[in-house]
Amino acid sequence: MGTKEERHTAKDGTTARTKANPGVPGTPVIPFIEGDGIGPDIWAACRRVLDAAVHVAYGEKRTIRWIEALAGEKAFRETGQWLPEGTLQAIMDHGVAIKGPLTTPVGKGIRSLNVTLRQILDLYACIRPIRHIRGVPSPVKHPERVNMVVFRENTEDVYAGIEWGAESPEAQRVIAFLEDHMGVRVHKDSALGIKPMSRQASRRLVRRAIQYALDQNLPSVTLVHKGNIMKHTEGAFMKWGYEVAREQFGGQTVVESEAQEQRGETVSDKVVIKDRIADMMFQQVLLRPDAYHVIATPNLNGDYLSDALAAQVGGLGLAPGANIGDTCAVFEATHGSAPKYAGKDTANPVSLMLSGVMMLEHLGWMEAGSTVERAIEETISEGIVTYDLARQMSKGQEVRCSEFAQAVVDRLHGS
Ligand code: NAD
Repeated sequence: MGTKEERHTAKDGTTARTKANPGVPGTPVIPFIEGDGIGPDIWAACRRVLDAAVHVAYGEKRTIRWIEALAGEKAFRETGQWLPEGTLQAIMDHGVAIKGPLTTPVGKGIRSLNVTLRQILDLYACIRPIRHIRGVPSPVKHPERVNMVVFRENTEDVYAGIEWGAESPEAQRVIAFLEDHMGVRVHKDSALGIKPMSRQASRRLVRRAIQYALDQNLPSVTLVHKGNIMKHTEGAFMKWGYEVAREQFGGQTVVESEAQEQRGETVSDKVVIKDRIADMMFQQVLLRPDAYHVIATPNLNGDYLSDALAAQVGGLGLAPGANIGDTCAVFEATHGSAPKYAGKDTANPVSLMLSGVMMLEHLGWMEAGSTVERAIEETISEGIVTYDLARQMSKGQEVRCSEFAQAVVDRLHGS
């Protein structure tokens, strides 16, 4: 995110954000998934802003060629499939995509398409930067102290989709197996879910988080887990995290207990690796947010924590995200499809716009990315906001989603 560039100068004197991606052509082809619910509204707003920013930053030299990839309700309407093979192929072919939110029914119907996409494309790191935008109302006194990037493991944990309904033949077989072979008793009418957490998936996620902290010259990485209770899954995540730090970043990291302490703060010229138990971490991010910089955590903890952090800086409508693997990256808003607001042109498009900024940075198009961030900040700090923020502000001017996009485009041209 933009302001880190000013705040964190890399150790070699350059900034990590100025490293352009040399493989990106002047006109990259990028698939987009419009999404369900508020998706079409926020995507239209986002696309206008991204196109305008690229034009302002590079003139005719660079432009994005968008191609639509179908998924969700629109895909089902048009093809009878929720996630057509062509969509996966398009993302694999082009390596980068952006998507609006997709609806998942609760407790019935299709599995989450979001989770399916992440698993099939092996987008193992869900990266969610959270920082406060000037002018945004917040429920806490010092939202500006929140400046963290959450790295959430994206392919395992209870999200892996290995579960069986109560009293199903599968659940009954597993319950019988547990009783007969493992000496474990489970109520006969239980639903069951399995929480796999592997060494390789945990290690690659933590490796990515530590590398990010080093690239961005950030002081710490915190492993957030519930290892006091789930010792063999969450506890192992912590153990494997420390293992990666020691084995692969030994000279560049230090564990918290070995770092110097001054006035209750750890001080080191190396990246400090610490760990916190998940429930305690929710307290820490409220009481001492400035002590945390990069967070590496399993799937479910990361889901809860990133939403809670988003609320601290003003709400889900503002928090961007990216799902990144070794070969593909899919950028998406943190929030869902908010069906109640579908088609009303009222939703806040900032989350998707900032996910677009992450995408521009991923392409190495830093100038376009920071132009968008600046224009969004200017718009919000002038009090021009969508309903979700307007209702928390005494003087805000409430605008529609499309009007907000126009206001951002106007400021892009003015900047
Ligand atoms: P949600 O994020 O869609 O909405 C919750 C509430 O947050 C909304 O009612 C609205 O008040 C507010 N909100 C969310 N986004 C907003 C925005 N851009 N502007 C203004 N207000 C906004 O969460 P939900 O209601 O739990 O989920 C709805 C659907 O979205 C479900 O089907 C869920 O599975 C899906 N979902 C998808 C994704 C994804 O695509 N990555 C993520 C989360 C939820």
